Amino acid sequence: MVVKEDSLRGYNPRVDFDLAIIGGGLAGASLAAALAESRLRLALIERKAPAALDPEWDSRVYALTPASIAFLDRIGAWRCLEAARVTPIYAMRVFGDDGSSRLDFSAYESGVLQLAATVESGRLHHALWQGLERQRNLSLLCPAVPSELCRREDRVEIGLEDGNVVTAKLAVGADGVDSWARRAAGIEARAGSYAQLGIVGNFACARAHRHIAYQWFRRDGVLAYLPLPDRRVSMVWSTREAHARELLALTPAALCARVSEAGEEALGALEPLTPPAAFPLSCMFADRMAQGRIALIGDAGHVVHPLAGQGVNLGLGDAHSLADLLRGAPDPGDRLLLRRYERARAEDILALRWVTDGLFRLFDANHRVAARIRNFGLNLTNSNPVIKTLLARRAMGMGGGLHHKEPS
Ligand SMILES: Cc1cc2nc3c(=O)[nH]c(=O)nc-3n(C[C@H](O)[C@H](O)[C@H](O)COP(=O)(O)OP(=O)(O)OC[C@H]3O[C@@H](n4cnc5c(N)ncnc54)[C@H](O)[C@@H]3O)c2cc1C
Repeated sequence: MVVKEDSLRGYNPRVDFDLAIIGGGLAGASLAAALAESRLRLALIERKAPAALDPEWDSRVYALTPASIAFLDRIGAWRCLEAARVTPIYAMRVFGDDGSSRLDFSAYESGVLQLAATVESGRLHHALWQGLERQRNLSLLCPAVPSELCRREDRVEIGLEDGNVVTAKLAVGADGVDSWARRAAGIEARAGSYAQLGIVGNFACARAHRHIAYQWFRRDGVLAYLPLPDRRVSMVWSTREAHARELLALTPAALCARVSEAGEEALGALEPLTPPAAFPLSCMFADRMAQGRIALIGDAGHVVHPLAGQGVNLGLGDAHSLADLLRGAPDPGDRLLLRRYERARAEDILALRWVTDGLFRLFDANHRVAARIRNFGLNLTNSNPVIKTLLARRAMGMGGGLHHKEPS
């Protein structure tokens, strides 16, 4: 185990910081960027810098909510993205599995300019790191890997594999689902597998998508198309492992035909832009988001099913909330401050946990009653503008959880 209660021995003299962020993925990098104007001295410990930008399309594409976009804009990352690779989503169509049930959302009805915008994962990561390399209050320790952690009353000491020690008033675990920091903090997590794979791939489509995102709750899983620039879409098909393997074994032309048919030919014939990739679908929730001068953000604290497309948005929400609380805090590791952080995030995390898990179970059930309930539910929601607006606002990150105001 990595936790030690006394000082680290055998390491080089330490470097002192207010905050040590472990992991520079989207969550960790955005937290560091959000604290650029603060007086805090930051260290970012990351084992591997992002890969160089590739002109090819990234098959991992995120639909970012207006709340996430506003946060990324404020921290300077949004403007570093090439506008031609960002696609606004103006409407969303969700279909049930009885051939007639559906639920439609539109930006116009919800009173917003856009419901979300799609962006490639690699480009967003790169945009965030561009700012970090110039950030004056940040020491980028990369490549670096932590190996030991020692907790003191007023700080944590992190021993690195290269023999250096980093000392900070607060350590933030932003190191993904297999978080070293979470284990070092002694925070338990509940994990489960959906026995499904998510297949992702990008396609060129014969018909214009008109900036509409599509989702089909099918008997064999959940299929989603996210719009990309021009006549391109990014697909995520969450489906049982055997079916996923069958899809992956198809020739590119046969896979295009299968995806197009499963998507009710909504966008006409498809052509492959990227080879399909698969990833196992699981969920994980840490019992706590903070404990003893260690806080968790992003996948280190929670992993949700991608059917709601909210994994990244939730992680950005953590970074936003924690940054707002830390700015100007005399002691970033203060117990009460960390309690406030946990409370601020509890509602969003719980709501998404229920929604993704509930939808998964409802649509995974092959029972006739379950089928009636889910399709009836879609139609009922579609016919009720109040519920629809509430749902849309929540999905856009405009409802729920406590948001901390910036100190003026
Ligand atoms: C194939 C795939 C497709 C996905 N598609 C979607 C999607 O469509 N929509 C969506 O919302 N979400 C999606 N997700 C989830 C989304 O990618 C994650 O929610 C998001 O990347 C989490 O960001 P993070 O910064 O918390 O963690 P990560 O992206 O996992 O970043 C963790 C960082 O920590 C570093 N690190 C880890 N351990 C250490 C260590 N010991 N020392 C130093 N550094 C360390 C890693 O190198 C990495 O840079 C997908 C995930 C996968 C795997």
